[in-house]
Amino acid sequence: MALKNLGIIGGGQLGSMMSSAAKKLDIRTVIYSDDKDAPAQNFCDEFIFGGYDDKQKILKFISKVDVISYEFENIPYETLNEMNKLKPVLPKPSVNRLIQHRIAEKDFVNKLNIRTTRYVSIEKKSDIETLADFLPGILKTTTMGYDGKGQYPIKRVEDIKSLDIDFSKGYILEKLVKLKKEISVIVTRYGNNNFEIYDPIENTHQDQILKYSIIPAEISKKILDQSKDWAIIIAEELKYIGTLCVEFFIDRNENLYVNEIAPRVHNSGHLTINAYNVSQFESHVRAVCSLEKIPLKKLSNAKMVNLIGKQIEPYRKDLKLGKNEFFFDYLKKEIKEKRKMGHITTLI
Ligand code: ADP
Ligand code: MG
Repeated sequence: MALKNLGIIGGGQLGSMMSSAAKKLDIRTVIYSDDKDAPAQNFCDEFIFGGYDDKQKILKFISKVDVISYEFENIPYETLNEMNKLKPVLPKPSVNRLIQHRIAEKDFVNKLNIRTTRYVSIEKKSDIETLADFLPGILKTTTMGYDGKGQYPIKRVEDIKSLDIDFSKGYILEKLVKLKKEISVIVTRYGNNNFEIYDPIENTHQDQILKYSIIPAEISKKILDQSKDWAIIIAEELKYIGTLCVEFFIDRNENLYVNEIAPRVHNSGHLTINAYNVSQFESHVRAVCSLEKIPLKKLSNAKMVNLIGKQIEPYRKDLKLGKNEFFFDYLKKEIKEKRKMGHITTLI
């Protein structure tokens, strides 16, 4: 039976686009966010502002929905787990707990015999002194990172002298991959061996933030098949319900590595709104609300450009779009450097 009231934790652009997709399917959305200016309040049916530890408000949120999903992974596991006792949380909280920790995530992927970058846990600065083998590398916080936040490139052991970071949090050191390309694969799983998968998307980052996504990805048949197979294995192993994205690296020797898993809809999939019969957001809503699965069909090749910080301004002032161009303004109140403000998708 279809679940008609969808609760979404998090009120950014992903929550907005999920809400728009739900509206089309006649599903009511209630968004819970700890940001009173959360832009998704412009797109959902009801908005609840509250902290992730505010039991009263969370209970109110739960009482209004049939099923709960989320747009970002850094929600305390305990919060999701408590919610899940009252209404189903999808993807399930244990998936989120695993993936929000970079080391647990990579251990899980390696156990499936799927390649990741080489990595090691770091507890204190001096740990790095004996790890020249992992350099050049990137030191990352094990939790809470996104858009390159909490990441520190380390070329040589001497570089750690000038590192001024708080090691009371956990860190991971990853060997730098000599990148040829980055791709992502988005899959929506509805149940056992029941999924729909989008073709790989080629991604370009600037300052560790996604800037361009394009389909089709220019990759070999071998990489295409392997990346899709790995994404499916990961989704099946997690018994995942909903849309999931796997980010991959391809190195100069044509080796494929899983970079990270996003247990949610993903920025690189924004182009699916215009380029596919069913977007990643609609697929997600269909899977978590027990609606019918619709087979995917690509309608067009496409390119997406993220508008970061001030790059949104000219488009807000004077919008001139060709007939194959689609502009999305996330309606964030404040323009901040490195903040994703909107995007443009062009069908090509
Ligand atoms: P975030 O959670 O911020 O997305 P990622 O681990 O995906 O963190 O890193 C962001 C980007 O930084 C990647 O998409 C890639 O461009 C670059 N990067 C991160 N780790 C590595 C690595 N080990 N080797 C090469 N590039 C990397
Ligand atoms: Mg990433």
